[in-house]
Amino acid sequence: MKSPTLQINKAHYPVTVLGVGRRIGLWVQGCSIHCKHCVSQDTWPSDPKRALAVAAILAWCRKVAAEGCDGVTISGGEPFDQPQGLRALLQGLHAWRRQAGLDFDILCYSGYPLKTLQAKHAKLLALLDVLIPEPYIEAAPPRKVWCGSDNQSLLLLTPRAQARYADYLNLPLAEYGKRMQVAVEGGRVWMIGIPARGDMAQLEEICQTRGVTLAEVSWRR
Ligand code: SF4
Repeated sequence: MKSPTLQINKAHYPVTVLGVGRRIGLWVQGCSIHCKHCVSQDTWPSDPKRALAVAAILAWCRKVAAEGCDGVTISGGEPFDQPQGLRALLQGLHAWRRQAGLDFDILCYSGYPLKTLQAKHAKLLALLDVLIPEPYIEAAPPRKVWCGSDNQSLLLLTPRAQARYADYLNLPLAEYGKRMQVAVEGGRVWMIGIPARGDMAQLEEICQTRGVTLAEVSWRR
């Protein structure tokens, strides 16, 4: 039988701005939702060349987080556009957590409405600790941490998630200072996290005034 794969845009450790603690971040490649003003438009096209064996992704996770990690955040792209690969990844993470006696949480973003996910992907939801569903809406700036827009919220699906995230549910965004993280890898600069409205335009403007033109950016195509 063919081993399951998942198209991946990027992976990073440690991610500290998308969930509690120091986390593994996995961004899938491919999103069919196309929210207006999405800042990750580089993840939209499906690209079979970016398909990685789930076993290799799990091996990388175990390697980078050998000392342990607080969580795994899966974003994109749209993770639920690759349900088979996502299922294999989640099952592998569960097996790793169980066998190694770890307690990391698994948080997943989706641009699909909760009702759609419940109707089509209940078995996948059962493998998550935290879900942040619903599409990005530019006109609704977020008031909650780790959400891209105000129609989104953290859904705590397990006792582990309740214990770890309950204090953050009503934490005003302004009180949570960490928004963005920068990583430089493979000749690319990655902005990780949830920018405030206008942050990316401002960044571009500042770069421009210092003589740096951003040729390829993920927030427009
Ligand atoms: S915000 Fe997420 S769901 Fe919406 S288009 Fe961007 S990657 Fe897709």
